[in-house]
Amino acid sequence: MTDLQLTPNDPQIDPQIDPQIDPQTDPHTLDDLHRFVQRHPRLFVLTGAGISTDSGIPGYRDDNGAWKRSPPITLQEFLGTLAMRQRYWARSMVGWPLVARAQPNAAHVALARLEAAGHVPTLVTQNVDGLHQRAGSREVIELHGGIDGVSCLDCGMQHARATIQQTLEADNPALLDVTAEAAADGDAHLEWHDLGGFRVPACSNCGGLLKPSVVFFGENVPKTRVDAASHALEAADAVLVAGSSLMVYSGYRFCVWAQRMGKPIAAINLGRTRADPLLSLKVAAPCGETLSALAGLLAGH
Ligand SMILES: [Zn+2]
Repeated sequence: MTDLQLTPNDPQIDPQIDPQIDPQTDPHTLDDLHRFVQRHPRLFVLTGAGISTDSGIPGYRDDNGAWKRSPPITLQEFLGTLAMRQRYWARSMVGWPLVARAQPNAAHVALARLEAAGHVPTLVTQNVDGLHQRAGSREVIELHGGIDGVSCLDCGMQHARATIQQTLEADNPALLDVTAEAAADGDAHLEWHDLGGFRVPACSNCGGLLKPSVVFFGENVPKTRVDAASHALEAADAVLVAGSSLMVYSGYRFCVWAQRMGKPIAAINLGRTRADPLLSLKVAAPCGETLSALAGLLAGH
């Protein structure tokens, strides 16, 4: 990626940003963010779990970026044993309906408005809930895939998650009445007694091993997706992070690359982010009200 090896002295660097400002001790306001977007009208927007909490999908991490509960399953665990796949699919069966029912909130709607107004040529999200698209955003790169799909690891056939849900519920009626708190990827946290009899779904085409079409921890984001996002970053004037602590490298690296390219980075996030030292501007406020107000200001009302 030689085209990303720009120096901090690149002329694209924002001359109005004071490098002495510490976003933690000098919190910025909506007006600051408005001026930032006026100076940098084409944004590379990166969103995370914090943008979907108002839609009833809880985030994984607390305000300090620490795990709220046990970390999610890794790819190695999922592939490793049937017991882990039983645990995964049982939680997914209980948690998925909540994600499938979730509605876009004010933050998703505002970002769709900003795209329509030409300010968001590409939106990159770490979320797998599909809410940006349902709110009307069109140019969306789902870095970690989408929860609505399931892939066969043996024959490659793509299945709709809704269809797999029917199979899960038909094969495991004992779990239908379980209520559980859902987590960000449609997984749910349950106290398990015995899952030995849980029937995991198999591919209807070949009987092979099914995996949700999302990037698990311990799994790489597909290169084509990273390349598409990095091209979008090159074409943008600045980065706006919304609702992500950026603790996962797959999202954080875009901030590192942006800094190398001399593109300023703004963030809307309650709580710390891993990129705080790289930020030019940080608004510590809820995403929904901030983005809605920003879209209104940019529309001239
Ligand atoms: Zn198959």
